[in-house]
This record gives sequence, structure tokens and C-alpha cells, in this order.
Amino acid sequence: MIWSVLFSTAVLIQCRSSKDIAAKESRQASIPTQKDHQHSDKILHPKNIILMIGDGMGIPQMTAGMYMNHNYLPLERCPVIGLHKSYSANDLITDSAAGATAFSIGRKTNNTYLGVDSIKTSYETILEYSNRIGRATGMVVTSTIVHATPAAFMSHQSGREDYEAIALDYMDIPANLLIGGGKKYFERRNSDSLDLVAQLRKNGYEVRDYFEQDYMNYTLPDVNKLVYFTADGDPLPASKGRSYLPKAAADACNFLKNKSEKGFFMMIEGSQIDWGGHANDASYVYTEVIDFNKAIEKVLDFAAADGQTLVIITGDHETGGLAINPGSKMGELVTAFTTNKHSADLIPVYAFGPGSASFSGIYENTAIYTKMMQLLK
Ligand code: MG
Ligand code: ZN
Repeated sequence: MIWSVLFSTAVLIQCRSSKDIAAKESRQASIPTQKDHQHSDKILHPKNIILMIGDGMGIPQMTAGMYMNHNYLPLERCPVIGLHKSYSANDLITDSAAGATAFSIGRKTNNTYLGVDSIKTSYETILEYSNRIGRATGMVVTSTIVHATPAAFMSHQSGREDYEAIALDYMDIPANLLIGGGKKYFERRNSDSLDLVAQLRKNGYEVRDYFEQDYMNYTLPDVNKLVYFTADGDPLPASKGRSYLPKAAADACNFLKNKSEKGFFMMIEGSQIDWGGHANDASYVYTEVIDFNKAIEKVLDFAAADGQTLVIITGDHETGGLAINPGSKMGELVTAFTTNKHSADLIPVYAFGPGSASFSGIYENTAIYTKMMQLLK
């Protein structure tokens, strides 16, 4: 306690001249936080778990997003912070398939593998498990819904780019709600002539898309199972007009909340932070971090009001070896990249709500699965 007071005092003296600090203090006084009883030592089992993954979001991406957003990101509301080791079974530098599989099945696997271990044995994912024990489930992403990160939660494949095979895996999926791009992998397939949109409808899903219904004017219907395609292939970057993620994150919380008395498990991904890193485009990176944080804001508002929801926010790995260099100012950064691939940085984990205390410390990325499973049981 004393240390945290000293620390914040030091920071304030250093930055007293910044009007962003004053704005931030008044903002922090008014935003809802975890209720006091959630800080107690006894393990509290959340009813709902929301895992939010910023693909390619390491410390430098968050720093860039924060300093380009008036010195504030909503993820600062999380009282618990940890660090995970992101390496995969066959490479110190993980890819997104192995990174998300560590979260979904709790095992290190090889790069490009989804929902299977390093000898290609399939394991039930946390989303599949949640469904089996009667929880509602869902995913909201800004890539296609068959891209590596969501695919690790609902398919079992060793080739992350086998998008049509992954779409086929989704036919017996346990999800109540899917929002993301990639309709073409269901509707106009090269590997076979199946119409998987028709099959989804046959399996009880309401299926809608961006073409017939603009998401920003869309009210999710009161149905049990819904797929909404936000694009035929990849959705646009936020800087080119994509705006659905924050609304979809809020909508999904409310959609899933009433589906099961046992609660829900949901994964929300800010998919394109990684794509900005691969492109070595700092503005692509921070606009995606800021967009993802608008979704974080909605989810934390839901969790604060609900009081029974654990929110975990992390990345799968860092992308680009981004650095914020001398000459940078608040709101005006001088950036550099060391690679157009991923790096091996430790990745921060932020937690909010009942059960959040167990996410402090330094641990393997697979421990995120283990900790969530302990809280679900
Ligand atoms: Mg991804
Ligand atoms: Zn990547």
C-alpha cells in the first residue's frame, strides 16, 4: 500500500505539467471498479469468464496505444497484472495458432497447430468444455472467424491456413454466438461444394451478414444460436472504417448473459494489432490497440455492473519488436521495428473481477488455461 502511494506520487511529480494526467484522474474517479469484496483472499468462482486476446499485443503495443490515446487505456482499470511466457513447443517465437492453443487446451504445441498437442492429439478446448457443462459460449473477432486465434478454440487441425477444413470443424460447434469475417469459407468453397451457411441454418443458427444488415444498426435477435459475418474475407482495419468490435463486445455480453443459468465463456479478439506489427506500421498498431480498448471498456463496464464476471486481457505474443525511441512525445511517437515477425517478449495479463487474484505473477501461457479451468470447476 505504502509503496503504491509512493510510486504514484513520483509519477505525478514527474508528469505534473501534463493535462492528460488531470483528465485521467477525474476519469478514474468516476469509472466503476471491482467491488471491495472481490479483493478478499478466498477464491471466488466467477459465473462468467471473458478472455480478451490482443493478437500481437505486447508491452510496446500497449504503451504506444496509451500514449497515442491521451495517456489512458481502459485496461488500466484491471487491478491484477501478471506476465506469461509465450513460447511454443517447437519455437521460442510462437505463432498465433500455438499461442491461442496454449490458452484453449493448456498445452504447448507446435506453431501452426490448432486445438491439438505437439503430436497432433486433439484435446477438448475450454470453449467446448464450457458448452459440455452447460455454459453458453461465444467468440467475437476482427479477423475471419476461422483465423488461427478463434480456430484454436473450436477446431482441431495442424494446418492453421486450412480455412475450409476449419469451417467444416465448426459444423458441430458448441458456440451460441460467433461474430467475425470469413463468410466465403462457408459459402463459396474450393475444396468441396458444400454450403455451410445452409448447414449452419439447419443446425439451428440464425445466420446474418454485413451485406444484408449493417452491424452498427443491428439489434441481436433473441435466439439461442447466432452467427453474424462482418465480412466475406478479412474485415477492414479500424482506420479504414471498421467499427463493430466495441458494440459487438457489449452486445455479446448481453446476448450470452441470459442463455444459461450456469453462465458463459467468451473469447474476444483484437485480431489486427498483429497485422499492423507485421506491416511495420505503427499507426495501424496503435489504432487497433485503441479500438480493442474500446471493446475492453464495454466488457469491464458489463463486468463491474454484473459482479460475477471474470475478465482476462492478454496477448498471444508481441509482433514486430516495436520500440518507442528517443524524440517521442506524448501523442507523437518515434517508433521502430526490429522484425516483421513475432518476438519472444513476456506478455502482460490483466485480470478484473472474481478470481482475478490468481492471475498475478509470472507463468507459462498454458497456465492461463489452467487458472481459468480451476475457476470454472
Ligand atoms: Mg489472431
Ligand atoms: Zn502474427
